[in-house]
Amino acid sequence: MSARPAIAGWFTTGDTPALLGSRCTTCATTYFPPTTGDSAFCRNPRCSGEEFETVELSRRGKVWSYTDAQYQPPAPYISRTDPYVPFALAAVELEEGITVLGQVADGFGVGDLKVGAEVELVVETLNADEEGDLLIWRWRPVSEGQNA
Ligand SMILES: [Zn+2]
Repeated sequence: MSARPAIAGWFTTGDTPALLGSRCTTCATTYFPPTTGDSAFCRNPRCSGEEFETVELSRRGKVWSYTDAQYQPPAPYISRTDPYVPFALAAVELEEGITVLGQVADGFGVGDLKVGAEVELVVETLNADEEGDLLIWRWRPVSEGQNA
């Protein structure tokens, strides 16, 4: 049995997990999710770059918005629980200027979030199949005064 990312190539796992983005080698614009395949074009309308490198994104960001997911999202969403239990979602702005949506870490809810508050990326188990655990990134509130 092993643990692996639920979405291959979107983030790293381990002690200091990070989201993976694509950075244009021409203008350094960085995106998430990362570009895949050969037919990639830079999303900067003033750039004609077609080559990208994979970079690790900031592990911390600031809450831009958040919500309670009261209704189960449509497929391919995989519910962790049956029946469905609402969870919190946060849109987090990274210093790269990218906003990344994610669930809030286990044990936290909307009551732990506020706009502008700092959160940190963690990787937790989303689900499991016959080959092992499926991992997903989540946002964990950083308590004030905590700089570790
Ligand atoms: Zn570019």
